[in-house]
Amino acid sequence: MHPHDHDDPSHLGEMDLRVRALESVLVDKGLVDPSALDALIDTYQHRVGPRNGARVVARAWVDPAFHAWLLADATAAIASLGYTGRQGEHMRVVPNTAHTHHLVVCTLCSCYPWPVLGLPPTWYKSAPYRSRAVKDPRGLLREFGLELPASTGIRVWDSTAELRYLVLPERPAGTDHLDEEALASLVTRDSMIGTGLPRVPAP
Ligand code: FE
Repeated sequence: MHPHDHDDPSHLGEMDLRVRALESVLVDKGLVDPSALDALIDTYQHRVGPRNGARVVARAWVDPAFHAWLLADATAAIASLGYTGRQGEHMRVVPNTAHTHHLVVCTLCSCYPWPVLGLPPTWYKSAPYRSRAVKDPRGLLREFGLELPASTGIRVWDSTAELRYLVLPERPAGTDHLDEEALASLVTRDSMIGTGLPRVPAP
C-alpha cells in the first residue's frame, strides 16, 4: 500500500460526495444517530484538537526531562500525556532554534498528527501549500505573516502515514512568570505546523 493511499487528493471530491450520500442513507434508515456523528466530529475538532499539542509543547518548555524525552522518543513522550490514537502512531518532534525553523507539510496529500493537532486546516491539504512549502518555504511563510531573519534556515519535513511531525516552537521571551497552563494558551496550531510562532503574552 502506498503510504498516502488513505487520503488520495484526486478522489477527495468524489469521496466527500460518497460520505454525504452514505450519511444520509444511514440516518434515513435509522442506522446512525446524527448526534453521534456530530460528537465524533466534535471530538477531532475540539477535544482532540491543537490544545493537546499545546500541552505537549508547554510541558517541554517547563520540564527539561520531558523535553529530552520528547526529542528522543516523541511517540512515547506524547502518549504519556494521554494523547494516542489513529494518525499519531509514529511521531517525531522537531525543535525550532534561533538558527533553524521547521515547517511541516505532506507533499502528496494531508498526513497530519491527529491526536495532537486534531483535523488539518483546509490550506494544509491544498496543492499550493504542498508545493510551495518545498519550492519557496520562505515566501510561503511570508504569506502566513511570518518573516524570518535571513540568518534563520528553514527545514521542511514531509509527513507520511508512517511518520508525522510536530514542531516544537521556541518559548517566547518574557514568559518566565507563566505557569504551564498559561504557556499552553500561547501555543497556536500554526506554531506547531511551522507556519506561525507562539503568541506573545500581553505585557
Ligand atoms: Fe499524506
